[in-house]
Order: sequence, then structure tokens, then C-alpha cells
Amino acid sequence: MHSQPRIPEPLNLIGGAWVPARNGKTLDVVSPSTGKAFAAIAAGGADDIADAVAAARHAFEEGEWGQMTAVQRGRIMLKMSELITRDAEELAQVESLDTGKPISQARADMVAAARYFEYYGAAADKVHGEHIPFMAGYDVKVVREPHGVTGHIIPWNYPAQMVGRTLAPALAMGNATVMKPAEEACLTVLMIGKLAQEAGMPAGAFNIVTGEGHVAGAALSEHPGIDFISFTGSPEVGVIIQTNAARNFIGCTLELGGKSPQIVFEDADLDRVLPVLTGAIVQNGGQTCSAGSRALIQRSIWDKVIARLAERFENLTAAPSEQDRELGALISRKQRDRVQSFISESNAPLIARGKVASDAPDEGFYVAPALFGPCDPQSSLAQLEVFGPVLAAIPFEDEKEAVRIANDTEFGLVAGVWTLDGNRQQRVAKALRCGQVFINGYGAGGGIELPFGGRRKSGHGREKGFAALHEFSTIKTIVHNHG
Ligand code: ADP
Repeated sequence: MHSQPRIPEPLNLIGGAWVPARNGKTLDVVSPSTGKAFAAIAAGGADDIADAVAAARHAFEEGEWGQMTAVQRGRIMLKMSELITRDAEELAQVESLDTGKPISQARADMVAAARYFEYYGAAADKVHGEHIPFMAGYDVKVVREPHGVTGHIIPWNYPAQMVGRTLAPALAMGNATVMKPAEEACLTVLMIGKLAQEAGMPAGAFNIVTGEGHVAGAALSEHPGIDFISFTGSPEVGVIIQTNAARNFIGCTLELGGKSPQIVFEDADLDRVLPVLTGAIVQNGGQTCSAGSRALIQRSIWDKVIARLAERFENLTAAPSEQDRELGALISRKQRDRVQSFISESNAPLIARGKVASDAPDEGFYVAPALFGPCDPQSSLAQLEVFGPVLAAIPFEDEKEAVRIANDTEFGLVAGVWTLDGNRQQRVAKALRCGQVFINGYGAGGGIELPFGGRRKSGHGREKGFAALHEFSTIKTIVHNHG
């Protein structure tokens, strides 16, 4: 980047206007790489949320947005995709400043963000209903309609990608949206809001209120004016969101993280396994819902795999984002301390530890990656989501035990199965209790076309792919007795 990236002002986007929080307050934005504040965001509250919900309602019911055809909506979204691509470098610079992630990971995020708007922009006019054969004299059709006003609460790990993931399908279906991004990192969300305006997004279709979770997030999830809510974040907050949704009698999707296993059988191609096993826990500093945080390794190859994995871990370095190493700083002091306490309190042997770059600022939130094992499958490291660069290696004897251990957490998001035996691939994929299974590969976070979501404590509902268009719409059956 030749010039300094432009940092957005601390303003909310409500009804097409950029406005300060009604209380006039702001929150500091801290760079994880340095621990220092470098920007501010609006500290939105319940009144800003109420304004945004009202603006969305107006856009949906009386404004230009609600009158648009699917083709018109799709074209605006395709334009957004182009604009995100045009500004990708600046967006990536801001994303890596804001989240601490290595610059090339931030660049990859912008490719994905643009792709979401491309995929869903192109899909907007391709979702249609059905005709049902019924009794003589009747004509029955099932039409797919938007919910109305949708609320979106997203986390800090992939702000720009999350806008694409949750807003693009909602907009494609014609909903008017209110987004509450995470207070820790949300600058690119505001930048994409600006690009939406440039692309011709009508006022009120895309509203953004920044602010603290227990204030602005709570106000959005409680608001009786929303018709559906999409949440990505912690299971603890997921419970609050679902409870509030129940009180308002609306639906919700929850994506709450995981403890995703990668199962390595003795016939696996280790040259392919090793980089993926490492990458899936180190990418984004392990702060990914679908991080491959458990390595289940068949006992007959345990020593061999662990030796090679240890070598890889020892060569990993957490460094400031511009150095573009394998991982950057974690998002916040709180997150760093949480991950450090998992590391210091683990009962399992520490097999290998990466490094923190010697020139990384002391005030930054760096954690050296850690590989532990053999971990007891019931231990906290094998059961709880660390959300950091910590891999729990667990040995297993045979296929039956592998499946039992893989399924034996409260989560169920993604799994990887590494074996060259085709029948075993099918058996294990079928037996795993989760939302996505990769065979001889692992796609933490990847695949916009692929339905994604969890079971139990990983949440419910599906994002990505065509499935998301169905989540962000509802069906109406119209029965015509024409005699
Ligand atoms: P994490 O622990 O990873 O920060 P959270 O679940 O706390 O995850 O945060 C995810 C999103 O939920 C953020 O946008 C945050 O502001 C929001 N949030 C946090 N607490 C609440 C709450 N009580 N009600 C609604 N949203 C919340």
C-alpha cells in the first residue's frame, strides 16, 4: 500500500446517513499488534438500534428497497463485489491493523468478502417457489418471501468476511438489515457500508450500529421490530440471543464455534496431512469457529506424526501483521490471557511450542502456538474451545474409537477424515455428528458455496451456499380454489 489506509469515522450508518451515537460517546479501537488505540467507533446504544430498526422497516415496507426486483438487488450486490475487489488492498490493510492478522490472511479475507456478494448477487433472482398438485379445482403455489427486517450480530475474527456471509444472503432475499459488528474489530464493516452506498444500495437496506455487545447487541436482539436474527459468537451469548428470539417469537441462526477434530488414520498420506493439520489451527491465530483444534491420531503412527508435527510447531512464529508470518497477535488482552491460561493449566504434556517474534511489541497480544498430547479426551483442552493456536493431539486405536472420541464433545461443527480407504471415508463421514466433513482435506472457513453450520453447542441453522438463502426467507403457501 503506497498511501496510508483511510480509517472510518466513529459513525453509525442509519437510514443512509452517517451519524454519531445519540449519546455522543465513542469506544477506542486498539491494535492487537501494538496494544495501542489507533481509532474510535461510535458507542451505539438502544436508541441508535431503535433508529436503525425503524429505518430498516421503512426501507422494507415503503422505501425503494422493498420495491426493487430481485434482478435489481442482485446487480447492486454484484457492484458491491466489484467495489470490494477494487478497494481490497486498503480493506486488507485496515483489517490487519484492526484484528492483528497477517496481511496475506487479510487479503484472502477480502477475496472471500467480494465472493460472497458475487455468489449471492448472482443468486438473488434464482430463488423461486413451487407448484403443488392438489385437489381438482385448486391451484397451489408456494412462494418464498423475505422475513422483513433481519438483525445480524457478528464477531471480531473475520469482520469483512462476516458481512458477506451474513448480510449478502439476507439482502439477496430482499430483507432490510441491521448489523451490530463486534466492538473489538469492525472498521472494515463500516468501509463496506460506504461501498454499499456507492454501489447504489437504497437507504435503510443496510444499517450498521457499532457498540458494546451487552448494550447495542442486547438492544438489537431484544428489539420487537426485527423479524429474524443471525448470530455468530460465543455459546454463552448464543443462549441470550435465542432466548430473546423466543420472547419475540422469531427464528434465529446461531453459529457458536466448535472443537473440530481432524482424524488421521494409519494409511493417510502424511505429506498432505501435516501442513493442513498445522494450518487449520494456526490460521487466524486459531481464532476461527471451525479451527481444527483436535488432532486424533491412530496410535500405530502416533510417534511418527507427533515428531513431524512438533517440528512444524517449533517453526511457527507469531509476529506483527505486517511481517506476514504464520500468525499475528490475538484480538485482545482478554483473549490472550484466556489462551495463556489454557496453556499454563493444561494437564497434558507440552510437545512443542512456537515462538513470538523477538521484535514484536511487548504490549501486543501475542501467544506462541502450542502442541499438547497425548490429551485425555475428557480434559478441558480436548473439550473446550480455546480460540487460540493450541492443538490437542489425542491417540486412538481403531475406527470405532476415533468416531467415539470425535463425537464426544458438546460441539459439532466441522471434521476432517484422513484415510485412503474409500469405504472407511464413507463410514466415518456418515457417523460424525457435525455440519461439514472434509475427506483428505480441511477447509476451516473456506467454501462460500458450501452449507456451513453446526449441531448442539456449535449452534443451528446453515450459512453459506444456497442453504443461507433459505434461512433468510420464509415460505407462504397460497391455495386458490378456482372451481
Ligand atoms: P467473543 O467472546 O468471542 O467476543 P461474543 O459472543 O462475546 O464472542 O461476541 C460476539 C458478538 O456478540 C459481538 O458482536 C458482541 O458485541 C456481541 N455480544 C456480546 N454480548 C452480547 C449480548 N449480551 N447481547 C447481544 N450481543 C452480544
